[in-house]
Amino acid sequence: MALYVQKYGGTSVGTIERIEAVADKVKSFHDAGHQMVVAVSAMSGETNRLIGLAKGISETPDPREMDVLVSTGEQVTIALLSMALKKRGINARSYTGWQVGIKTDSSYMKARIEDIDTSSMRAQLDAGGVVIVAGFQGIDDDNNITTLGRGGSDTTGVALAAALKADECQIYTDVDGVYTTDPRVVPAARRMEKVTFEEMLEMASLGSKVLQIRSVEFAGKYKVPLRVLSSFKEGNGTLITMEENSSVENPVISGIAFNRDEAKLTVKGVPDIPGVASRILVPVSEANIEVDMIVQNVSEDGTTDFTFTVNRSEYQKALGLLKTIGEEINAREVTGTDDICKVSMVGVGMRSHAGVASKMFKVLADENINIQAITTSEIKISVVIAEKYLELAVRALHTAFGLDAEATEE
Ligand code: ADP
Ligand code: ASP
Ligand code: MG
Repeated sequence: MALYVQKYGGTSVGTIERIEAVADKVKSFHDAGHQMVVAVSAMSGETNRLIGLAKGISETPDPREMDVLVSTGEQVTIALLSMALKKRGINARSYTGWQVGIKTDSSYMKARIEDIDTSSMRAQLDAGGVVIVAGFQGIDDDNNITTLGRGGSDTTGVALAAALKADECQIYTDVDGVYTTDPRVVPAARRMEKVTFEEMLEMASLGSKVLQIRSVEFAGKYKVPLRVLSSFKEGNGTLITMEENSSVENPVISGIAFNRDEAKLTVKGVPDIPGVASRILVPVSEANIEVDMIVQNVSEDGTTDFTFTVNRSEYQKALGLLKTIGEEINAREVTGTDDICKVSMVGVGMRSHAGVASKMFKVLADENINIQAITTSEIKISVVIAEKYLELAVRALHTAFGLDAEATEE
């Protein structure tokens, strides 16, 4: 007998029929003698619909009220799933975040889980019942409802599994595992049997939304065995593993991630003297704008061009701020574009292989794709390119690095 925490995403509970199918699946695990805790998302599209309602009132809705609003989607699905399980003769009980004791900090819309009180869940499990928990939500010390950021139900699932010391946390979604890249963009993408935590963390942080990054961080920190599986199709899915070099073929590149939520800003013709980078970036960080990549070029006339990227949602705010800074530091020009994207290659194998970057640049050059910025770390290389080339770039790299499904089946 095992204790499983299963999380079902929005598409998996998107209709009554699908909720019934989830109930059948949970019942089959329960019937096999396992203890079951299930976290669910809102029905697909519901969180976006709720955000749309709020935007109809204000472009910048009050964050506390926003969390009261968007947390309602998950309350609908826990009730419906519990009803479906009761109909099947199972003692299921739904719990909102606060009912189950998910304590978070007070950062509305991006709260972090601090503590989970497992006593009510344990009592329900000991009584032979199934626990159904609303994903994405918690409560702060002052009893305010909080939410965990988009995709946050993954983190609820992993945090519950950590708190309960579950045998496995299973993330059920609309794909049958973690692929070498988003299979919706590259049909030749290949499912991975296993991926290391380190690689999954990079993939998630670089834009692969199959798992919320915090859920991967949590699983790594608390050593939660984590698996991504399909709600619709039988199979083993993908195991996120602590072991390095666990994949049989041990490729240099494990996956390609991309992110369209990017924008680029450039301050041109800045005097090349100490302190310029901080004159530009300190006000940006004080305005709570997160900076991602940074590139600085010195030209022969002794001035420098300073480029950095931010989340696309903060582009206008950053541009406005930068125009003011530009005038203060006598920059020649401030420009920007949100027509860009970031494409990243990830793989622990990069540590022991040279030449990955040069091959990546050659592949992009052969497709006539201009690279606007580059960053690297030990196990990843990211480039900024024009957004219109995203699909072309990802497909070309996927093929060139031998990741296509056909290529590995030979
Ligand atoms: P859920 O609603 O179940 O949480 P998400 O939409 O958040 O599902 O995540 C699943 C989606 O993630 C897939 O439909 C797929 O398009 C996308 N995705 C992005 N990168 C990958 C990847 N490397 N492997 C698998 N899916 C990916
Ligand atoms: N419903 C929330 C969202 O759409 C949380 C989740 O699905 O994980 O972001
Ligand atoms: Mg998700």
